[in-house]
Amino acid sequence: MSKAAEIEVTRPAPGVARFTVPLAMPAPDHLHVHVLETSDGPVLVDTGARGSESALAAGLKALGQVPERVLITHGHIDHWGLAATLAPSVLAHPGVAPSLAFAGGDRDGSPGGGWPDAAAMERAFAGFSALVAGVPGIDPLEDGQMVGDWRVLWTPGHDPGHVCLFREGDGVLLCGDLLLPGFTPNIQPAWDGADALGDFLGSLRRVAELPVRCVLPAHGDPYMDARRRADELAAHHAKRLDQLRMELAPAPMTLARLRDAVFSVDVRDSANAMLALMETQAHLEHLHRRGEAYPGPGATWVLAGGGV
Ligand SMILES: [Zn+2]
Ligand SMILES: [Zn+2]
Repeated sequence: MSKAAEIEVTRPAPGVARFTVPLAMPAPDHLHVHVLETSDGPVLVDTGARGSESALAAGLKALGQVPERVLITHGHIDHWGLAATLAPSVLAHPGVAPSLAFAGGDRDGSPGGGWPDAAAMERAFAGFSALVAGVPGIDPLEDGQMVGDWRVLWTPGHDPGHVCLFREGDGVLLCGDLLLPGFTPNIQPAWDGADALGDFLGSLRRVAELPVRCVLPAHGDPYMDARRRADELAAHHAKRLDQLRMELAPAPMTLARLRDAVFSVDVRDSANAMLALMETQAHLEHLHRRGEAYPGPGATWVLAGGGV
């Protein structure tokens, strides 16, 4: 019997089946796939990427279902890399479109905003496109829309098109990567130059105000206290903003030096070094929006008020 055939399916809430697929990437190394029973038939939420195929097939076989509808919580490839093998299009917020196109090799609409150029992205994430088995079309989801008895909550920040699903009847929240229990979700500059960190903090506040009783994350174990985790994540970013203000106070610094000052990242780990660089950029964009820092000469960042 193959290992994949032994996959375990759990039912963490009524009408919700959950199983875990491996990811062929350094971290996270797994993704939880959820299948929701709805009045319009089962809906598969997130898929895994290449390397997850046998576990995904085994999980669906164990459930005896081939969901006709696939919903993706956001545009990162671990959540949708296999979607095109199951359905020609996915339910997704339209904000995922640039991420899907970029991962599929489309460089015409290369990211703008505070993103590194496409060549730098290619170098950092070499091989990641190979984890994608085709790019699906998008059946757009709107904020507030119902999928069965689940309400779509647009929660941008970790990704511009990130959504959570909330079932008001019993307080179950499928949070995607918004409220991860084990690590802080990466924040990347928005494609359009929007304030991604500000969006993320707003998304945290939004879910913290909901009567959540069970959080089902895409990575890590289910837990109960959404508000506490939202507060922890907000505090983490407040601390990082303080670190950046302190680093910038004596003199302007380059983005890479700021990254190295606030993250302990091995620059030989190109993907993680790039993610840390992008997260640092997103924090600086947030300070810029608040009038606290601005881009200076020589690709530096400067603290408003001239420092000390
Ligand atoms: Zn993600
Ligand atoms: Zn993820």
